[in-house]
Amino acid sequence: MSAQGDVDPQEKESLLEKDRKYVWHHMTAHNENPMIIASGEGSWVKDIDGNRYLDGMSGLWCVNVGHGRREIAEAAAEQMMKLAYATLVQSHIPAIELAAKLNEWLDGEYRIFYSNSGSDANEVAFKIARQYHHQNGKPSKHKFISRHRAYHGNSMGALGATGQAQRKLKYEPLGVGFQHVPPPYCYRCPFGQKKESCSLQCAKAIEDAIVWEGADSVAGVILEPVITGGGMIVPSDDYLPMVREICDKYNVLLIVDEVICGFGRSGKPFGHQNYKVRPDIVTMAKGLTSAYSPLSATAVSVELYESFKEKEATSHFRHVNTFGGNPVSCQVALTNLAIIEKEGLVKRSSEIGKAFQNGLEPLQHHPHVGEIRIFGSAMGIELVEDRISKIPASVERVTSMIVACKSKGLLVGKNGDTVPGYANIITLSPPLSSTDEDVTFIIETLLSVFGEVIEKG
Ligand code: PLP
Repeated sequence: MSAQGDVDPQEKESLLEKDRKYVWHHMTAHNENPMIIASGEGSWVKDIDGNRYLDGMSGLWCVNVGHGRREIAEAAAEQMMKLAYATLVQSHIPAIELAAKLNEWLDGEYRIFYSNSGSDANEVAFKIARQYHHQNGKPSKHKFISRHRAYHGNSMGALGATGQAQRKLKYEPLGVGFQHVPPPYCYRCPFGQKKESCSLQCAKAIEDAIVWEGADSVAGVILEPVITGGGMIVPSDDYLPMVREICDKYNVLLIVDEVICGFGRSGKPFGHQNYKVRPDIVTMAKGLTSAYSPLSATAVSVELYESFKEKEATSHFRHVNTFGGNPVSCQVALTNLAIIEKEGLVKRSSEIGKAFQNGLEPLQHHPHVGEIRIFGSAMGIELVEDRISKIPASVERVTSMIVACKSKGLLVGKNGDTVPGYANIITLSPPLSSTDEDVTFIIETLLSVFGEVIEKG
């Protein structure tokens, strides 16, 4: 293979053969001809044929600082030589420094529990919430309220919290005790309300669920600040503060899943900071290391943490995982956060979003664009068959647009497994380090692809 990543045809065929024979791909139908990515630099990746693509989804919403950061690789190598592993039954310097750094990013004081993935971080949150209530006189509080369309991970509890039937049906029964309510989806308000006269029935639905399930049975509410993978569902500004009030009223913990919205993606350090609420528990992964190394964390408010002390001998949190808080991953995270801070990438995220807003203005009137929703630098373009009926665009139309973007060198995503008929939202979430030229390339490519759709009808 050359330094650029391109390989000769023989080598490519051999790789494809081994791929077909040995690799089980994630979340796709069996793919006989996968794109094999060989290298990455900034916002761009290159496949083994040497084709360059702008990584418009930062991988899976995760490579926040972009590809090819030498300083992260060097920090990882140095840490591996110094100390590749220690448990967190003991402690080590990168875990300590990172927990302190995360407290600078969060509002208020939190204690940090490390794991490996976003799913793990949410499982930890559920267990901490249940144990908290158990030890505080409310052992029956065990259920969680989540929203339709939400994705919270692939393990049995996190999948239970997920509100997307197609991801779950063949794996049930999942973790028990997860109830779902409609999301704050203003474009297709599940309560038939208009934005101008909205009384936040979507937030009230959480209260209703708590009341009808029985407040004594509900441990927590889990939500993303904005439903990202489920279609970029951006709530009205009052939604999250109202959910916080409801949680307080019924002694229910508010768990905010920042796996995607965290680390600058939203234009603030964490997504919930846009709404000025303080969660009881914050879960994070992806952008924590910009996916250079696996790491996740569950940040628990200090008040909650303190209640785990000084009870009986079994009051501590009885949970351990081998790799969580690995010193190399923690050092990678520290270096990644230093880059975000040094390069002002949280602010850059808002700038990217504003550029999308302005540059894609012509699409606001496109016959197949229902709505463009932007949160920081994450964007969803909801495609419809026609703007009046709002019938979701067909799978064929959405797929052809994604393919057209790829043929012009832009990788985009779409909303995750949805009920049939609703796979109609194209998503973008490019590296926060994207240059002005990168952003212009994204805008011009989208305008060109959407323009061709009008020509073809
Ligand atoms: N939570 C959200 C909001 C996610 O988008 C994801 C993954 O995409 C997860 C949790 C699960 O994270 P992981 O894939 O690292 O387990």
